[in-house]
Amino acid sequence: MFIQQETFQTSFEETNLHNQTCVICQEDYADGERIGRIRCMHTYHLDCIKQWLMQKNVCPICQHTALEIGHEDEDES
Ligand SMILES: [Zn+2]
Ligand SMILES: [Zn+2]
Repeated sequence: MFIQQETFQTSFEETNLHNQTCVICQEDYADGERIGRIRCMHTYHLDCIKQWLMQKNVCPICQHTALEIGHEDEDES
């Protein structure tokens, strides 16, 4: 998986994160929570984005392909 894992700290919320709320569960990040950053640089709770990507390989915010899997293939069957 190409999820960059980080631990959220309020000290870097302004500088490092594009979004401070996980749009999957609609919860704000809290200090010490595990968050995951995908290729488009959007961030989510690590657990939330893992669950999401098991069903859909797109960023919930920008619809960008989240994880590169070998070759581009839109057909998920
Ligand atoms: Zn979440
Ligand atoms: Zn995105």
